[in-house]
Amino acid sequence: MTYPAIPDPGAGLRLHLNENTAGCSPSVLAAVRSLEREDTAFYPDYGPITSAAERWFGVPPGWVQLTNGLDEGLHVVAHAAARRGSLVDHQTGARVPTSGRGQALVVEPAFEMYAACAEAAELDAVHIPPAPDFAFPLEAILSALRSDTRLVNLTDPNNPTGLPIPSGAVDRIAEAAPQSMVLVDEAYAEFSGRTLVGPALERHRNLIVGRTFAKAHGLAALRVGALVAHPDTLAPIRRLLPPYSLNVCAVRALDAALQDRAYLDWYVGQSRDSRSLLERFCTAHGFAFWPSEANFVLIRVGDGASELVRAMAERRIFIRDRSAAPGCGGCIRVTAGVVAHTQQCLTVWEDILASRAD
Ligand SMILES: *Cc1c(COP(=O)(O)O)cnc(C)c1O
Repeated sequence: MTYPAIPDPGAGLRLHLNENTAGCSPSVLAAVRSLEREDTAFYPDYGPITSAAERWFGVPPGWVQLTNGLDEGLHVVAHAAARRGSLVDHQTGARVPTSGRGQALVVEPAFEMYAACAEAAELDAVHIPPAPDFAFPLEAILSALRSDTRLVNLTDPNNPTGLPIPSGAVDRIAEAAPQSMVLVDEAYAEFSGRTLVGPALERHRNLIVGRTFAKAHGLAALRVGALVAHPDTLAPIRRLLPPYSLNVCAVRALDAALQDRAYLDWYVGQSRDSRSLLERFCTAHGFAFWPSEANFVLIRVGDGASELVRAMAERRIFIRDRSAAPGCGGCIRVTAGVVAHTQQCLTVWEDILASRAD
């Protein structure tokens, strides 16, 4: 499969992948360090940590499936969706697809993994192009639905724009696509303060919410994500998952992270303040930006986007060139993490602008 190639920048300030720039809560590290020899030798028991995650999401037992990062969740949902509607030839036992390959809708500009997962699952990705100013293309999505649409990938708030899905839109899509799984990726829900986890999952048995502890909780390298849905919806997905996809460090880390609400609140506050700093900087310099509900801001800097990303990288500040993404010509994406880091980034950016003006 074709993963997006993002070269590791090396040492410096990483504002290019929406990671937590502060790192995890100190209590997470303490929990990982407290492992005993037997803990590494025994297969992990996921009962207590799954219950803790269900309490965290406020859902009944059976509604959460932990995954090895949300990326694994995206993968396994694509594979489960591709299998739905397939028939088994009772003579040969071979699987007979009802109508060739199914389709997966990808609403652009989108997180690159959706197309990669569709390809891996042999679904044809159908790309819904961006509307002016990235308005949510509800009507275009509804009219793209077909009987062989197996998966609709949505992101709230979206990456790379940071924009929300308007309320009610997911309901309309889930109702219009009973033949399809509707996956709402809420990787940035802690920053937006908004989630579909709740009655919508009871109403729509084709709806799945994806969450990750990589971003707000700073566990990206430990790989912990979750799929939240009605147990009947999760059943065909669970059948495709390996039995032990989270390692014991991730289990311990998640348990500690979920107990440290104060750390999460602090980080979300830092990110919100950083977003304001970035937005004020853009306004002062006449750069267009989109009001983000996530821990990053998409900024239109114009023709010099790639050159700016390179100039910043020379000063060890890594930001993401998004100018090749649909609708994102001339755009960069900057992570809004710890305020001091954002200030460091803006000081360097200011310097670069000043040296160009000379
Ligand atoms: C970062 C990100 C993910 C990946 O989460 P992991 O838990 O690190 O795999 C998924 N979806 C979106 C939209 C993201 O930005």
